[in-house]
Amino acid sequence: MASNLDHLRIDPDRMLAAFNELSQIGATGDGGVDRPTFSEAHLAARKWFRDQIEKTGLEFHTDGAGNHSASLPCGPKASPTLLLGSHLDSVPKGGRFDGALGVMAAFEVLRTVKDAGLKLKVNLEAIDFTDEEGTLVGLLGSGALTGRIDRDLLLSPRGGRQSLEEGLRRAVLSDDSVLAAARQKNTLAGYLELHIEQGKRLERTGINIGIVSAIVGISSYRLTFTGRADHAGTTTMQDRLDASQGASAFILSAREIVIKEFPDCVVNIGKMELIPGAFNIIPARAELWLEFRGPNEKEFTRLDTALIECARNEARRFGLELKTDFLGKHSPTPMSAGPQKAFMDACDTLRLTHTPLVSGAGHDGQSFADICPVGMIFVPSVEGASHAPREFTEWEDCVNGANVLLQAALRFP
Ligand SMILES: [Zn+2]
Repeated sequence: MASNLDHLRIDPDRMLAAFNELSQIGATGDGGVDRPTFSEAHLAARKWFRDQIEKTGLEFHTDGAGNHSASLPCGPKASPTLLLGSHLDSVPKGGRFDGALGVMAAFEVLRTVKDAGLKLKVNLEAIDFTDEEGTLVGLLGSGALTGRIDRDLLLSPRGGRQSLEEGLRRAVLSDDSVLAAARQKNTLAGYLELHIEQGKRLERTGINIGIVSAIVGISSYRLTFTGRADHAGTTTMQDRLDASQGASAFILSAREIVIKEFPDCVVNIGKMELIPGAFNIIPARAELWLEFRGPNEKEFTRLDTALIECARNEARRFGLELKTDFLGKHSPTPMSAGPQKAFMDACDTLRLTHTPLVSGAGHDGQSFADICPVGMIFVPSVEGASHAPREFTEWEDCVNGANVLLQAALRFP
């Protein structure tokens, strides 16, 4: 029996046909897709997925957060469900693989198990999560399903309240329906996802599959350096309290600190504003948008302290005051041991090389931490390109990933 299952494979041509059809919805003409959450193209992709599910004789299911799924009751009665999935929304003018590949692979896994008439220990569900990319809220569908979305978050979402209201209306959903989408923990056996790497590590090393060990934590601050506005021509260099100097020194020091002391972390200052902002006035204020990411809580906390201390020191050095506004944090999410082991065994069965990787991007899997076992794999991204139309993964790699997902699901739990 076990060896029979070891030989089961997805149908690569069938998956390719579905993937190519999906890629046409919201296609930008240069290989990419433009499907922000609840845009016309995104709604069309969702409708297409629903039609595909119904055509194949799988059960279609949707919830108050607009998550769309195919389910296959292949487990014993009342057994929990193993979710396989990703997302069909994209960033504006994004690539056709990000998210879509994971949903199509999950769907193909269910079709393969259905065609083989297999009975497993769990039921299977292939799910398309709403708004993973954060056009409206970010991890909206997976967060709602795992009970992590509350009313406050819906009242001040990152995409703005008006966009959320309009979006929900277009999809015939509401705040109340989103909040009612939470499932009972004991109905979930686990969550597994296949995604493109969106980086160059697999390509560079020639390894087939990345088994995600953790999804990084992300923290953000607004830092305000305050000095004094003065005449830019008549004030000597020694007499200036120039906010831009302290802010710039911090940007360069932050880079040094991360490179030297935090090799697994990254820091980004994505925006800097100088006030009042004129040729002939010394900047009185500099506002910086700081974001940093780290793979485990200990490093992440240490980095937080180091960066804020660095900002204080640089402010002092230039005679400035520093104000720190903490804007929010997602803790690092370790992936569960069970799914990592299932993925490793699946790779070995398929004779595919694998390596542990930390995900530098956020994913729906984060929503499942502390809820049920969660695991994720990556397939190589050509040139590491992502969130752009040139995003590409060789079809052979997509098929490898889908087969690993299948074999891991067969081994679950
Ligand atoms: Zn994605």
